[in-house]
Amino acid sequence: MDTAIVTPTLRAKDYKSEVAPVWCPGCGDFAVLSAVTKALAHLKLAKERVAMISGIGCSSRLPAYVDAYGFHGIHGRALPLASGLKAARPDLTVIVAGGDGDGFSIGGNHFLHACRRNMDLTYIVMDNEVYGMTKGQASPTTQPDWAKSKLTPHGTGMRPFLPTAIALAAGASFIARGFAGDPNGLTKLLVEAIEHPGFAFLQVLSPCQTFRPEQKEWKHLVHPVDTAPTDDPVEAARFIQADDGMALGLFYVRRLPIWQPQNQPTATPADLEREFAL
Ligand code: SF4
Ligand code: MG
Repeated sequence: MDTAIVTPTLRAKDYKSEVAPVWCPGCGDFAVLSAVTKALAHLKLAKERVAMISGIGCSSRLPAYVDAYGFHGIHGRALPLASGLKAARPDLTVIVAGGDGDGFSIGGNHFLHACRRNMDLTYIVMDNEVYGMTKGQASPTTQPDWAKSKLTPHGTGMRPFLPTAIALAAGASFIARGFAGDPNGLTKLLVEAIEHPGFAFLQVLSPCQTFRPEQKEWKHLVHPVDTAPTDDPVEAARFIQADDGMALGLFYVRRLPIWQPQNQPTATPADLEREFAL
């Protein structure tokens, strides 16, 4: 994060754009937008030094609602877009936002490589276990017995994608979970994620009122993590294995080398020829 340029007078509402959200009333994504603007105000980031990048989906509309630079890209490609931007402009604070379908299905492979590449990005995934924009199909994080979609009337019959476990296995250096119904906790996690030097993955349980109304119950199921964040991947793996998917907080944080093209050793054509010669 670039902390050199600050704008001390901005409040959270100053980071909201004039575009009115079109989310359904009660959608969890409103709280995520609010947490993003509060975190930007808390960190006193100049608007022109922030870029919000997204793919496609309800939650991917978020950059339009933030008064900073942004790019609403194509489905599943938010992370490559953000990585390219960060490579070219390492001075920017680049925040990527999207949903579980966009991030874990269409963009799933990019997620793995963004974790292991460890560029200095913040990735917020608003997880509601459904494709909301396309009218309620099962997503990678949908439980196998959810049978409300016409496409999967008997459930998916598939193991759900486990975002935090996969982020850890792929090499992410910051893994946390927040909840739209806990705005203060979510803002705190977002501040930590943006400040973290490296790839920060923040899963946000963000209920879909329209297609998953039963997620209103999440507010009774979430609970804080009962241990301090660890920097030991083995300990983090043990914690994540026992996790019920409802623990909120920072699970794992570790300083790892940040990948940035300007920091990489340069190779001459002759070096490359030697290295890759058969
Ligand atoms: Fe939010 Fe669901 Fe409505 Fe999309 S369909 S805006 S996720 S409540
Ligand atoms: Mg979704």
